[in-house]
Amino acid sequence: MPTLTEFLKDLICPRCGWTDSFAIREIVPVLRVRNNTIAVKVRAGVCTHCGEEILDKTASDEIDGAVKKLRDGDTQQLHHIGEAYSYP
Ligand SMILES: [Zn+2]
Repeated sequence: MPTLTEFLKDLICPRCGWTDSFAIREIVPVLRVRNNTIAVKVRAGVCTHCGEEILDKTASDEIDGAVKKLRDGDTQQLHHIGEAYSYP
């Protein structure tokens, strides 16, 4: 499996079309699982021209694993950071 750096090299941004414009950044996508949400910190490529975020397989697998833990109620390794409300 290529490293994130190798994965991003010479990549054409699917949003803006620039080539080799991705820098490695930490991002925290927030995903919804039924009425709960989970924020997963991952390393990803972010286009320095338009902000498009690209995940490699490692980051996708981390997100999928965290979502599966929350979906399965396996929250021992997850950090409880708040509550969610809806109104009205
Ligand atoms: Zn771009």
